[in-house]
Amino acid sequence: MSKVRTRFAPSPTGRMHVGNLRTALYAFLIAKHEGGDFLLRIEDTDQERLVEGAVDIIYRTLEKTGLIHDEGPDKDGGCGPYVQSERQKSGLYLEYAKQLIEKGEAYYCFCDKERLETLKTEVGGKEIAAYDKHCLYLPKEEVEEKLAAGIPYVIRQNIPKEGTTTFSDEIYGDITVDNAELDDMILMKSDGYPTYNFANVVDDHLMGITHVVRGNEYLSSSPKYTRLYHAFGWEVPVYVHCPLITDEEHKKLSKRSGHSSYEDLIEQGFLTEAVVNFVALLGWSPEGNEEIFSLEELIKAFDYHHMSKAPAVFDVVKLKWMNGEY
Ligand code: GLU
Ligand code: ZN
Repeated sequence: MSKVRTRFAPSPTGRMHVGNLRTALYAFLIAKHEGGDFLLRIEDTDQERLVEGAVDIIYRTLEKTGLIHDEGPDKDGGCGPYVQSERQKSGLYLEYAKQLIEKGEAYYCFCDKERLETLKTEVGGKEIAAYDKHCLYLPKEEVEEKLAAGIPYVIRQNIPKEGTTTFSDEIYGDITVDNAELDDMILMKSDGYPTYNFANVVDDHLMGITHVVRGNEYLSSSPKYTRLYHAFGWEVPVYVHCPLITDEEHKKLSKRSGHSSYEDLIEQGFLTEAVVNFVALLGWSPEGNEEIFSLEELIKAFDYHHMSKAPAVFDVVKLKWMNGEY
């Protein structure tokens, strides 16, 4: 088997949520357990969502918790993270998107806001805007003309409405969805940046990532990612989706709960070691009775095959106990 390579791929949009820290930790542990590499990649191609200082927070948190990445471009004499907005300057994502267009797996879309607005429908109280493939059927000459005239465009993934897509997740098992449920998602935006959805597939492949660890909110996107791997003829990585984290009322952990981020917890006086120990157990059960682990011990003990798909409850009493308060 090839060397295990994982990555943490945060979008710099705010504080380091406990869920993000767990994703980073699990990715780190999966790599280190096998003597593999752990990479850090900043996914900042959504320029509208960037929050100033967020990259520093990510960096500091990883440093404090000991989740040190193994490679990256030179930075201040050490190795920095991979940064997608830097990588995009070479035009690499656009090149890959054009490869998909040539294969019939993607297409230019020139629809303006007004037209897209008319496609919106309400389903179960939520506004859904499934794209109707209008631009897939534009004659080639018309596409060429529009491109030459500099009309703004996006590039969309072409997903047939018939058939199904199947992928396999290590925690949730085999999942099959009807293609009719998959929207022709945008790969390249009109500002020239790739979407997160596209860049993460291209980069995971180029960086040789073997195990993709992310939150289960990405399960619904995985069929589309899987189709992209197939379209390129690339090997699909092992997917490891982490379960939801809830508060004690079994609601999704939110800012309101007051301990949703690493910084919150540190500000409340919790020790980094206790937080890391606690976060490791949000979705993974060690084999024996031991519950107190250092990072080194976690590396030895962690096995993602013993992760759970049941939501993990953020139990403050347990965290306090790990913090030595009882
Ligand atoms: N940039 C995504 C996020 O921060 C990463 C998801 C992934 O790991 O692929 O939510
Ligand atoms: Zn269109």
